[in-house]
Amino acid sequence: MSQVSAKEVKRISDKNMDLFYDYLRLESVSAQGRQIKQTAQAVQVLIENIGGEAKVLELEGAHPVVYGFFEAGQAGDSEKTLLFYDHYDVQPEDPLDEWHTEPFEPTVKDDILYARGVSDNKANFMARINAVEAYKNTEEGLPVNVKFFVEGEEEIGSPHVDDYLKAYSDLFAADVCIWEAGSKDSEERLGISAGVKGIAYYEARVNSADIDMHSSLAAIADNSAWRLVQALASMRNTKNEITVDGFYDMMTPPTDLEKKVSAEMPFDPNASKQTYGLKHPLITDQLPYSPEEALVFYPTLTISGLLSGYTGPGAKTILPRQAMAKIDVRLVPGYEPDKVTKLLREHLDKHGFEDVDLELITSVMPFRTDLEDPFVETVINSAKKVYGEDKVVLEPNAAGTGPMYGFGKYLNVPILGSGVEWEKSGAHAPNENIRLADFYQGVEHMVVLLESYQHSEK
Ligand SMILES: [Zn+2]
Repeated sequence: MSQVSAKEVKRISDKNMDLFYDYLRLESVSAQGRQIKQTAQAVQVLIENIGGEAKVLELEGAHPVVYGFFEAGQAGDSEKTLLFYDHYDVQPEDPLDEWHTEPFEPTVKDDILYARGVSDNKANFMARINAVEAYKNTEEGLPVNVKFFVEGEEEIGSPHVDDYLKAYSDLFAADVCIWEAGSKDSEERLGISAGVKGIAYYEARVNSADIDMHSSLAAIADNSAWRLVQALASMRNTKNEITVDGFYDMMTPPTDLEKKVSAEMPFDPNASKQTYGLKHPLITDQLPYSPEEALVFYPTLTISGLLSGYTGPGAKTILPRQAMAKIDVRLVPGYEPDKVTKLLREHLDKHGFEDVDLELITSVMPFRTDLEDPFVETVINSAKKVYGEDKVVLEPNAAGTGPMYGFGKYLNVPILGSGVEWEKSGAHAPNENIRLADFYQGVEHMVVLLESYQHSEK
């Protein structure tokens, strides 16, 4: 068993609770640039307080990134370095009237801690800090070197992560990386992701006239709303297959191991139907692959928003001069935003929609860790020790998006996520929370993981 007992984990975590609360009180809303510098400094202090070396790094026009370093102890392996990726920024707290507590005043009710940013991602950062401190108090010290990369722009799409990694790749050099997040599901199983999907986000626009017209003119004048929906409809058939030429060809085929791991992921279609109140069957009912495979291995093409014409109460008969759609494409390994843009453009032109303007607004590359990497087993086995043999679920990559790609590219590390969220954490939503029991367990997982990593083959 570990040099650090579960009792010690709890003692350290409780001792640091005031510091944790102060960290949660900082209103580090990146979208609004609130208290960003103070929060970066607070992260620096939290690292330095327990004997780490920390630097607040800055690049022009970017929120600071905090670097942290702790050297392996005398009985540790200083040849190995584990990097923690976390972020100190949070989402805006609105709608305020839906909160039952003050968003920036951490409040515990029935062993649940409520605060904006607690689940995403301040508790995970604090759990890492507590785990490191627990080892600093032992005679042997830390099992391996530990570094931190704590950014302040995750909630606005991490536009400068790659710039920081490029500029400071030597500083952040590491062998393995633990990502910010991980949540328990309705069956109390902890999900551990080995990657993320990427995203390419577009605005599509049609302008068919200088002014909106009386809709009697629909007899002769084209309608931008019709043009746009026809263009969109040409991209997907009623069986929910994306019909853009070459769209599926970009996919790096999943390996046998990836397929096996995805087949073992628990998925309950009824739970999804209930959670979201779905009124239609799952779209995978008509597709030649399973929901699990869809979530992990397949790209999506989603109309995220539509805007045109009159949408107020009652009737107003106009012929809209313009129409706009927001489209997001979730990318899996093999897909690059620029290639996707090229295919979509070619598709529109080929189908006579040259007048549909398509603009790439933002993009993130996908990333998936090689599941053969020994670190995958180290993380999974250490989690099983803490959470239980049948309470840990590996997914080759999450269905969502995050800035992992640069870490793979510039640092060449395997990346796995572990965190203290649960199914009702409500990240980005009002009443965001974590269960305190999950928090202690998360600290314990990091404690066990550091030691398992020291003794692993790589
Ligand atoms: Zn978030």
